[in-house]
Amino acid sequence: MALKASRQTKRPRKKVAKRNLFEIPKGPQDFQKPLFDDIGNGPNIIPRPKHCISRKNIDKEALKVLYRLKDHGYLAYLVGGSVRDLLLGKRPKDFDIGTDATPEEVRRLFRFSRIIGKRFRLVHVYFRGGKIIEVSTFRKQIELDDREAQREGLGPDSIFGTPMEDAFRRDLTINGLFYNISDFSIIDYVGGIDDLKAGVIRTIGDPERRFIRDPVRMMRAIRHASRTGFRIDKVTWKAICTHAPKIKLCAIPRVRDEWLKDIKSGFSAHWIKYMLESSLFKEVFPGLWPLLEKNEDKRVKRTLVAMMKEVDKVVRESESEHGDAFFLAALSYPLLHFSKRWIALQPEKIRWPTHEIRAIFDEIFFPYDFKRSDRDLTAQLLSSQWPISICASKGRWQKRVYNKVTFPEALTLYNCLKRALKEPVIELSAIPQVLKNKKVAKRGRKNGYRKKRHPRKEV
Ligand code: ATP
Ligand code: MG
Repeated sequence: MALKASRQTKRPRKKVAKRNLFEIPKGPQDFQKPLFDDIGNGPNIIPRPKHCISRKNIDKEALKVLYRLKDHGYLAYLVGGSVRDLLLGKRPKDFDIGTDATPEEVRRLFRFSRIIGKRFRLVHVYFRGGKIIEVSTFRKQIELDDREAQREGLGPDSIFGTPMEDAFRRDLTINGLFYNISDFSIIDYVGGIDDLKAGVIRTIGDPERRFIRDPVRMMRAIRHASRTGFRIDKVTWKAICTHAPKIKLCAIPRVRDEWLKDIKSGFSAHWIKYMLESSLFKEVFPGLWPLLEKNEDKRVKRTLVAMMKEVDKVVRESESEHGDAFFLAALSYPLLHFSKRWIALQPEKIRWPTHEIRAIFDEIFFPYDFKRSDRDLTAQLLSSQWPISICASKGRWQKRVYNKVTFPEALTLYNCLKRALKEPVIELSAIPQVLKNKKVAKRGRKNGYRKKRHPRKEV
């Protein structure tokens, strides 16, 4: 009861007149709670004229959520990666919002919203067109997993925290910045602005402790270094190299999702260099590592990096998105290419050794699990490399090779490795039948489909 009363005095609800959603009020609102009354010296606050974040670059859905929270007397900040990307002049992938409203309070403000998660409960606010804005209540830096927290008897009250605590629980200084919608300032508790200016990737707090608590943060540090081109701070880098083997303690699907994001990012060449140098590669890919380790030849590592550079170009230049299978094939192909097992598969006649490669796939991508369709497609893309190279060497293209649905992607993969090896590539124009065949396939499809007839109703 007492708790309820104190909350009411702390956060007076204001009745706000309905206003146009996208009409943005000028200047700070007078009923906004005073900021930073609970911390000593306070954070570094960068006022609007001294930074480049404009509301023009923030999605209207995110602005709508920020304003509604603020208009109801709550703190409403843009948090995490979106502030970093906006300051770097990039378009953020998602706009996450932090607030002091509890998930239930947020839920009440937005009709189309849902609370998700058990312990760290977030609110998803849904918008037309499928857009989702994630709103999370400021959290403390409790680095316990769910079971540990249960044992310690920690409930939601011990999870939620102040904005400062929320900043300090984040991974990297450049990811710990807030953008305050009430006065358009940036709030920096963690030295993120200085690191952004200097181009440094640094953990918030002691990297050893932060990596031991959550080893995935090592992969996140490497990710942001490769994406931004920033250098990794010395102490952070040393801690990554020391604690790399601890990545094995993380949940396997979580680690898989992390590296899948990186190979598809368009910055995978830098990423793979960091992975190799820190020995995270060895720990994350125990199945691929022997292909590198056994092969003393430095050419293999060089080819792997060069291949990922080509893959990055494909990501940036191609109009259509490639699926996971293409990237899995791209990561493993340069390593397989130099292996005895791969060379032993070389067929004399045109043949797709898909079955054998399917078995190899399970070994090289151990311990990760993938959808069956992705495993099959990766095996098809890799096995297509043999027929393509036979046709290329003979200068004669068989219909059953170029007619395969997977041929364009398999050829892209083939050319990526050829470029990485500085060998001649195959241009599509060198296979005139392919272009001709496209027309045939289109016509065939048009005539081939039949409208399904509905059975006539008996009258
Ligand atoms: P991206 O552009 O890939 O979305 P991001 O930094 O926004 O990059 P998210 O996975 O969306 O990455 O995470 C949002 C924010 O949550 C991060 O910016 C960071 O502040 C925090 N965060 C994510 N993972 C961790 C972690 N393992 N430990 C601490 N903080 C984390
Ligand atoms: Mg994000």
